[in-house]
Amino acid sequence: MSAIVIHGIGALCTCDPLVGDAPGVVRDAALVARDGRIVYAGPESGLDRADVPRGALEVHARGAAVLPGFVDAHTHIVWLGDRGDEYARRAAGATYEEIAASGGGIRATVRATAAGSVEELASAGRERARRMLAGGTTTVEVKSGYGLEHEAEMRQLDAADRIGRWVDLPDVVATYLPLHAVPDGSRDEYIDDVCTRGVAAAAKRATFVDAFCDTGAYTVAECERLFTAARAHGLRPKIHAEQRSRSGGALLAARAGAVSADHLEHASNTDLEALNAAGVVGVILPGASVVLGGPPPPGRRLLDAGCTVAVATDCNPGTCYSESMPLMISLAVALGGLTPAQALVAATTGGAAALGLADRGMLRPGLRCDAVILNTPSWVDVAYHLGGDVVASVVLEGRVAVPSKA
Ligand SMILES: [Zn+2]
Repeated sequence: MSAIVIHGIGALCTCDPLVGDAPGVVRDAALVARDGRIVYAGPESGLDRADVPRGALEVHARGAAVLPGFVDAHTHIVWLGDRGDEYARRAAGATYEEIAASGGGIRATVRATAAGSVEELASAGRERARRMLAGGTTTVEVKSGYGLEHEAEMRQLDAADRIGRWVDLPDVVATYLPLHAVPDGSRDEYIDDVCTRGVAAAAKRATFVDAFCDTGAYTVAECERLFTAARAHGLRPKIHAEQRSRSGGALLAARAGAVSADHLEHASNTDLEALNAAGVVGVILPGASVVLGGPPPPGRRLLDAGCTVAVATDCNPGTCYSESMPLMISLAVALGGLTPAQALVAATTGGAAALGLADRGMLRPGLRCDAVILNTPSWVDVAYHLGGDVVASVVLEGRVAVPSKA
């Protein structure tokens, strides 16, 4: 039996709609967990000492705000190679086409990643996952997608699994993303392979299947074929949709019963209404919008359409090398039109919804005790303090996984 009690919480942001308006704040609160599950989340004055398990670790928040652990529902953290030079060249004026012609871009990541062993891939991903945890992320979705070949894709999923098994790293949810970059050889042969042995093998390793539906990537028909094959093996779809252009991916997500549609910068209001009608979560990735330019992430538009919104890092070597959920929360407000409260909910309950996880994303008795203790009494600082180091310590499934630096 393990137990923890966090006293002296100035503002407990439960993100629980039953508590009140977002982010469901309880003042002068305490949080108690036993065996990784929350048993009490409420006012300190309402906590009966008899409800605190004997031998519980006592932590004092000293008036700071406490939030649910962040759920980063869209990442590509299993990669090898370094594209820092390419980033610098792009900033100096080189075009995407020039970089691709000289062997750069996603193809460079595919070359390096496909050559890596499971151990090499897992240790590269582990460093990124560790930085994520230090920034308050307690659950992370990890995609394959840099293999472009069956065995290499499976090694990435095996590496994701290995990262999730390390103690004191975020919980991992794996997604098979075979349709990401486009192969040099026969496109049809590659898709045939993915839709047969690919989905069968991935079903043993992943929860979701994903595809990059866009100009220069894969068509709606190709993505739909993958989803049909994957669903037969129990893999539920997610999709990269309407990022570079409006290509029909959002409407496909709605009719394919996808758990989420991600990016959506070029989505029309009709697209967003279809997502809402089908119960598809809209995942915004504001870091990629910053790096690539183009339309802002449609946070406000998704909420206006009635959708559940998640915000995620899209952590990847090409368009957003960032592990920071606090930064994404800031950008969701600054660019995506969300309020700080809405952005905080999008980073917690929204992320959990985008991964189909009902056991986390808010601080409520019965759920996993994943929590972030800030170093400030104001939860608004997560959004307001751009790039600030606002996380003091992190509790992962009821254990202190990141101790306080203070
Ligand atoms: Zn992505």
